[in-house]
Amino acid sequence: MVRILGLRNVKGYLSSLKDKREVYYRGEMVDNVTEHPVLSIAVRHASDIYRLQHDPKYKGLLVYDDPKYGAISGFYRIPRSADDLLNRFELIYETTRLGRGMFNIIKAIGSDALFALMIITKQMDLMLGTNYYGKVLDYYKNVVENDLALAVAQTDVKGDRSKRPHEQEDPDMYLHIVEKTKEGIYVQGAKVHTTQSIAANELIVLPTRAMTEKDKDYAVAFAIPANTKGVKMVSRPMKGVEAALKDPSFIMGRMNVESETVTIFDNVFVPWERVFMSGEWNFAGPLAITFPVYHRFTAISYRAAMADLLLGLAKLLAEYNGVDDKSHIRRDIVYIIRYKEMLRATAIAAAHECQVDKNTGIVVPNIIMTNIGKLLANEEYTSTIKHLVDVAGGLAATIPSIQDFENPNEGKHLEKYLVGARGSAIERARLFILLKEWISSFGSLFTTAMMHAEGSIEASVIELYRSYRYEKSKELALYASGLKEEL
Ligand SMILES: Cc1cc2nc3c(=O)[nH]c(=O)nc-3n(C[C@H](O)[C@H](O)[C@H](O)COP(=O)(O)OP(=O)(O)OC[C@H]3O[C@@H](n4cnc5c(N)ncnc54)[C@H](O)[C@@H]3O)c2cc1C
Repeated sequence: MVRILGLRNVKGYLSSLKDKREVYYRGEMVDNVTEHPVLSIAVRHASDIYRLQHDPKYKGLLVYDDPKYGAISGFYRIPRSADDLLNRFELIYETTRLGRGMFNIIKAIGSDALFALMIITKQMDLMLGTNYYGKVLDYYKNVVENDLALAVAQTDVKGDRSKRPHEQEDPDMYLHIVEKTKEGIYVQGAKVHTTQSIAANELIVLPTRAMTEKDKDYAVAFAIPANTKGVKMVSRPMKGVEAALKDPSFIMGRMNVESETVTIFDNVFVPWERVFMSGEWNFAGPLAITFPVYHRFTAISYRAAMADLLLGLAKLLAEYNGVDDKSHIRRDIVYIIRYKEMLRATAIAAAHECQVDKNTGIVVPNIIMTNIGKLLANEEYTSTIKHLVDVAGGLAATIPSIQDFENPNEGKHLEKYLVGARGSAIERARLFILLKEWISSFGSLFTTAMMHAEGSIEASVIELYRSYRYEKSKELALYASGLKEEL
């Protein structure tokens, strides 16, 4: 790879994706993701991060002056204090707002993985005498100096969920090492839902769960260029974009989307210098837990911004409909305020109550606060939409098209009859169209993502039950019941 050493611009980023990567869309191989009518929209969304970091207005938000590497992407700033995590929250929150409420994952998830890899490989080296930590640091140097775009493939296809990796009928249901040579390892398997892999320079691969000794070939972590031989990325059909290409009034689908792929690793070679775990089965669990803490902190940060959009939309619709002083509408809106502010509050608390990893000095967001926020985001998203639709009324589904407003024949009638308590009918229609796009062409994505992305509901329940420190609460109950004399 050509050494770039510095913050890339959009042109440099886009040209780096013309690398013969193997991508499929609706049964066809994609020659160039930057020119494909649908996938190029996801690439464009990712490229916003490269544009904004050169914009004088946003440079302060997106660029960090690192003592070792100079100006680097703020996403790659290694968090060493609560303030660093608060900055990270602002960075993710604001870039999501700049993406019209759509998260921009392109450097966020990769940095989440890198921080977790630094912590866990250091532990491995100290306890097992391995030499992974230095390799992660070398890889990190390559990432920051070349300002790379990263995707993370953690979630395996998993086959029969009731079985461990080595118990599966087909051994490839979890990605695993099939051969070790002097030069490196060969891996086989498939990961799912890999966000923005088509727009990334590199894929970081992590184990998805804790492993037993019998699963040791599945305890594997590494990083490879997205165009590595044997890597095949099959994109989901992107309904949001396809709908927007037919309907110019759908703005998000033409500007701000992310893609997901089934990511197949067909006998893929990984050189040793890029292997960060290869069989150390008892560290797969800690890595599979540490990465999600960072990634769920990222989740509550971007979901707070997404909720901000839903809140703004609800309030505007209430005002345009002339019902913003009605008591049940107030309750709807306060529900959305609570949703957004609880997410923001848990992110801020998770940053303030972070824990320092003693081996590396890197801070980890508070696991309880992070998972409480994540669980709330999972469980209350659909209710939030319910409250928003209650405010909006039926035009959320039945609003005529902008083309009808623009055609003088029917347009003059629509202008007359679809006006509300304030503004013009077309302004009001624009707000309904945004809501319609959100709940229709993006509906399945957001409903599913809000429940499963960054881990299922149960994953956070397990983490909270396991990690909560109950001692003080139990002591209080013993004291209050008279079983203990002093607190
Ligand atoms: C939009 C989107 C983007 C994503 N982006 C990424 C990404 O970039 N990278 C990445 O690696 N992953 C990504 N994910 C994956 C995400 O983390 C997973 O969807 C999530 O962990 C759930 O896994 P699953 O989809 O395989 O569902 P499943 O694991 O099949 O879960 C379905 C249900 O079964 C339950 N279940 C599963 N196994 C068991 C068991 N053994 N015992 C009891 N209950 C069980 C779950 O709790 C859940 O209720 C993304 C997901 C979405 C939806």
